[in-house]
Amino acid sequence: MRRIPSGSVRFFYGPMDCGKSTLALQIHDNQVRQGRRGVLLTRFDRSGPARISSRIGLSSPALEVTDDLDLTAVLDAAAATGAVDYVVVDEAQFLTPAQVDQLALAADEREIEVFAFGIATDFRSRLFPGSARLFEIADRIAPVQVEVLCWCGRPGRFNARLLGGRITREGPTIVIADTGDPVAPGPDPDGGAPAYRVLCRRHYRAGRLGPQEPDAQEPDTDGPDADGPDTNGPDTDGPDRAGAGHGG
Ligand SMILES: [Zn+2]
Repeated sequence: MRRIPSGSVRFFYGPMDCGKSTLALQIHDNQVRQGRRGVLLTRFDRSGPARISSRIGLSSPALEVTDDLDLTAVLDAAAATGAVDYVVVDEAQFLTPAQVDQLALAADEREIEVFAFGIATDFRSRLFPGSARLFEIADRIAPVQVEVLCWCGRPGRFNARLLGGRITREGPTIVIADTGDPVAPGPDPDGGAPAYRVLCRRHYRAGRLGPQEPDAQEPDTDGPDADGPDTNGPDTDGPDRAGAGHGG
């Protein structure tokens, strides 16, 4: 049985609620069973002490990453009490590019296996900085098995932000909640944070939230091949219509 070479960065990405945290915790569990020691990281955990939590009830304590946290120093400190074999990062889209580089350094210099899980794009359909850096440098990149479907049945790819029942493509990537704490993108029916809905590209672009709704931003063209790659000219989906800050 061939051993997986040590020291790599793997990035698993997908829309919200696609099972990323569950997979993160499964990998952690598998590593623990093999007697390996790891560090769990997450960002913008909203429920007291930081944890990686999955929708199906799994949960494990984790270290909350802040913008100025030096992950090299974190791993130095962890290594002082024993070898660190792996790092599992949930919500990796919120890492700074520098922190992603610090994880790559750990993979290269310490032969640490890095498993990063995150959302690729924000509600504007633009890459999160952490995800962009992971796409640039990860050894392996894999979509998480998508179990989230748009209402039309197509695979859900984009996290649409809803304000007043309509899709918005403007505003900060991170919303500051009433408590003053930053809130990660995600459904938050209790707080002041916006709601999110996973949509396919076609309906994200159209701003259409269900079969009863007319397209908000383009004529109804339900032809089966209307969403083929690069077949929609700029006449039907001009970049300015979304106000998405193209080129920004
Ligand atoms: Zn759809």
